[in-house]
Amino acid sequence: MSDDLSAYDAAWGRVRERLRAEIGDAEFKSWLGPLHLCGVDHGKALICAPTRFMGDWVRRHYLDRISALMDQECNDLGGVEITVKKAAERAAPRPAEAPSAATGASSSRKGANPSGGDVSAPLDPRFNFGNFVVGKSNEFAYAAARRVAEANHAPFNPLFLYGGVGLGKTHLMHAIAWHIRERHPGRRVIYLSAEKFMYQFIRALRYQDTMAFKDQFRSVDVLMIDDVQFISGRETTQEEFFHTFNALVDQNHQVVISADKSPSDLEGMEERLRSRLGWGLVADIHQTDYELRLSILANKAEHLGTEVPQKVLEFLAHKITSNVRELEGALNRVVAHSTLVGRQISLEATQEVLHDLLRANDRRVTIEEIQKQVAEHFNIRIADMHSARRARAVARPRQVAMYLAKQLTTRSLPEIGRKFGGRDHTTVMHAVRKIEELRATDPGFSEDVDLLRRMLEN
Ligand code: ADP
Ligand code: MG
Repeated sequence: MSDDLSAYDAAWGRVRERLRAEIGDAEFKSWLGPLHLCGVDHGKALICAPTRFMGDWVRRHYLDRISALMDQECNDLGGVEITVKKAAERAAPRPAEAPSAATGASSSRKGANPSGGDVSAPLDPRFNFGNFVVGKSNEFAYAAARRVAEANHAPFNPLFLYGGVGLGKTHLMHAIAWHIRERHPGRRVIYLSAEKFMYQFIRALRYQDTMAFKDQFRSVDVLMIDDVQFISGRETTQEEFFHTFNALVDQNHQVVISADKSPSDLEGMEERLRSRLGWGLVADIHQTDYELRLSILANKAEHLGTEVPQKVLEFLAHKITSNVRELEGALNRVVAHSTLVGRQISLEATQEVLHDLLRANDRRVTIEEIQKQVAEHFNIRIADMHSARRARAVARPRQVAMYLAKQLTTRSLPEIGRKFGGRDHTTVMHAVRKIEELRATDPGFSEDVDLLRRMLEN
């Protein structure tokens, strides 16, 4: 067999180089670099991955290609199999349900917090599933969060929640933590912001305590990192995060991540980390619609125990469209005002109390929102709104976004150009004309643009 092996090994060396050229250095280093040929069994080449997680990934994404290339190199090959190195040493993983005595103890010590020791940030008791109002814009994220909270084994890993500010990402993460704490007090759940993760890591580096840091994070059952965009551009933190992340996912321990953008739009994030983050389930929380805003307000008013006229709720749901945080803030202000001055809540009083907020919400649609919505609609990356790429598939959506920016905001042509990767105002002008032209000749396209416009104005 050993003769065979050296021939196969040489073939594997050549296949590796071809793969490297095909998928690029970064991706190669993350996934294929650590693989090696570890044997031949009944004519099958056995390729070993260092961890089960990596093995799964390679099997899913590269096995077909590896097999085809290996087949070209060795004409008597009976196939390729991806195995995991040291399979025997990786003793049966501890089921997520069976906490060790130590973790059980730490959970009772913490009392009000799902046990995560000191690293876990405190959880807001109001942020639970019961208080989360579900609507079209968040039903998918909500369902995914519930699945994760109720499951005994990670149903998808990681769960990646993303959406604009104030739309309920943190609320859902806390809700997951509370739910697990109630059902399984022994499970270790850590929730913290990416900033705090970074801070802890830097501190560990400074005090040369990285072993403890690693142990702490790699032994949890559920790790939730909020606002992961904050580690953009921080290479060492990303590196550490990547390893922590892989270690957990590899043991089938649940990881939940939130960010303000989708994985592929996270700029300043290493490519391998981005691709990794999108591997589980990616759930987007959209901007709220009128119905959801109205139910959230009704719910909130009930919690406050205050009688708020339906007309006022409708008015607020109609006017405060930016996000849920602002919506709640507006209702709180109106209620506080009426309590203070001892007057009934009325539409007039509401308008008076909130005049600054209402003005700000009047010209709400931002170019960023337009870019996001349009990119999503045409299935391109937000980054392509700024990029120099001129392929029709991205240039046309970009023109649509410029057109809508002109229609829906008060920005000048040069200002709009700047927001689109520093383009000239004449480019914007050209885009506006082009879209007007197309709208006049292509009713389907025109309808599309109208639809986008309505969604943005909503
Ligand atoms: P994000 O983390 O996405 O910026 P948060 O989770 O902090 O947003 O939500 C902002 C506020 O809005 C919180 O007070 C939260 O409870 C509330 N909120 C957001 N979405 C909902 C919802 N669907 N139902 C009830 N409250 C919500
Ligand atoms: Mg948040």
